[in-house]
Amino acid sequence: MKVKTLLLTIMLSLGSIFSYAQKINVKRIDPPSWWTGMHNPHLQLLVFGPDISKIIPEINYPGIRLAETIHVASPYYLFLNLVISPKTKPGTFTIHFKKGKKEVAGYAYTLHKRNNNPKLHQGFDNSDVIYLLMPDRFANGDTTNDNMPGMLEKANRNNPNGRHGGDIKGIEEHLDYLKDLGITTIWSTPLMEDNLPTYSYHGYAQTDYYKVDPRFGTNQDYKNLVKEAHAKGLKVIQDMVFNHCGTNYFWKNDLPTPDWYNRWPKFTRSNYHGGVVSDPHASKYDYRHMAAGWFDTSMPDLNQDNPLVANYLIQNSIWWIEYAGLDGIRQDTYPYPYKDFMSKWMQRILQEYPHFNVVGETWFSYPATVAYWLENNRNKDGYHSHLTNVFDFPLMMAINRAFNEKPGWDTGLARLYEVISQDFVYSNPMKLGIFCGNHDSNRIFSSLHKNLKAWKMAMAFLMTTRGIPEIYYGTEILMTGEKSKGDGNIRKDFPGGWPGDKMNAFTPQGRTAEQNDAFNYLRKLLNWRKSNKTVQYGKLTHYIVENGIYVYFRSYESQKVMVLLNNNDKPVTVNLNRFTEDLQGFSTGNSIMDNKTHTLTKSLTIPAKSPMILELRK
Ligand code: CA
Repeated sequence: MKVKTLLLTIMLSLGSIFSYAQKINVKRIDPPSWWTGMHNPHLQLLVFGPDISKIIPEINYPGIRLAETIHVASPYYLFLNLVISPKTKPGTFTIHFKKGKKEVAGYAYTLHKRNNNPKLHQGFDNSDVIYLLMPDRFANGDTTNDNMPGMLEKANRNNPNGRHGGDIKGIEEHLDYLKDLGITTIWSTPLMEDNLPTYSYHGYAQTDYYKVDPRFGTNQDYKNLVKEAHAKGLKVIQDMVFNHCGTNYFWKNDLPTPDWYNRWPKFTRSNYHGGVVSDPHASKYDYRHMAAGWFDTSMPDLNQDNPLVANYLIQNSIWWIEYAGLDGIRQDTYPYPYKDFMSKWMQRILQEYPHFNVVGETWFSYPATVAYWLENNRNKDGYHSHLTNVFDFPLMMAINRAFNEKPGWDTGLARLYEVISQDFVYSNPMKLGIFCGNHDSNRIFSSLHKNLKAWKMAMAFLMTTRGIPEIYYGTEILMTGEKSKGDGNIRKDFPGGWPGDKMNAFTPQGRTAEQNDAFNYLRKLLNWRKSNKTVQYGKLTHYIVENGIYVYFRSYESQKVMVLLNNNDKPVTVNLNRFTEDLQGFSTGNSIMDNKTHTLTKSLTIPAKSPMILELRK
């Protein structure tokens, strides 16, 4: 680099703290940078600094037009609407802030060149299996960041609801473990700064949407993690929260506009009944309490009806997709923000990244309510969410009960059949994220009363039915936990993730015999699934559950996979007559878990409380 260029770069990078006569301190501009070559030419900058509203901004950079300067109620903010023409070259320029003719502040702003690598931002689909982890509880790769200056909560592993020190480095160090297990995609619960004095580890009360919490690492660390994951063939989904932020956001003492948050005369909690949003009979009272009530005292409810708030959130998500090279987003509490905003958000994302995926947390007991939120659903009220994926909570609830119950008309495995038989309500049931549990529910091994056989059946079902499977960290080593014992109980540290841990379950030697049995089972299943298009994309045909046996097929081109689940405590011989329409043309089935070949002439005997997964052969 030439000396002149170097000096210029240093001067520009110091822009935000540059000294001017009668200087004005521009404390931050969000988004902190942007890109050229975006499909949408508009960019709205939030400028934050004392008395900034009295200052006149000016930008002289070829291709950029400052179309509008928006003043708001608070004197601490200016919003600048820029239009970036398609020919604009990447580079750093100064936003001049003037009082009369005198410049009182300058802020260096960078436009990077958009990354047009066609391999990026391709989303996830049915070929993927998602691994959900909580970064604070997965692995502590850097003990020096457990406590950081300015961060209010200090690490305390003895407190189930405290911070335990896990971080991005911990995830990075176990990418090979995850790849070996056979998952393809990592979804980490939020990594952005959550600077609250207590209960901050979960990250759902974010205090800076543009900054990774320093106890997890830096933005660059996160970017590196995505890069490392990609190099190993793994995808990364970021968890975002648009409904609420944390009380300690930088704007807390001086909101840009009085309606930045949804306000109530006194603290008013959401009724948490997301169903009222799609309910044709809902009262306005219930709707307002649902959408504008606060999720918690520490989580102010953002008002996405304010276009400035809406832009702030939309641009933030695009910023992360582009900055980190994300493959997908999981959006928290999907029905809680205003739904028209959410639809607009999705359209904006798909405008920039047509193959990108977002999966919404649609926590409902009934398929119809979940279906309302999925793209292309024919909702009678005309609502179109444009949301590419939703989580199948009704199936999760069914899985957690089905394997514990005796066969009955609508109990036992019939629960699985009943939920899936309602797939007609979905525009595309293959777009459902399917799971046994997550960070807010009982761990599956506990739900199944620590019955390893039932656990194996649950895993076999999850990996072979329609949808995109997700497993919660520690499922593979039979971690236990019950929601009724507190969130900490279902979010325990992964053994071996911390220096000095007695057990290291990341290695076979550190796992018990039972854990190895489970791990090896799931590993085999996942790695088989990874290379089997039939089980990923195949059409599902299932048969009514009879005598505690659930049988279904996946068909793809000329290939078929047959799955039999026997939930009885004894072996059962299944007469194959009923399945002729699917078995026609096939003479044998190879059991993928034990590599045994079964003839498909008359019957099959399924061992007690066991699954059988067969690749059919001619
Ligand atoms: Ca740490």
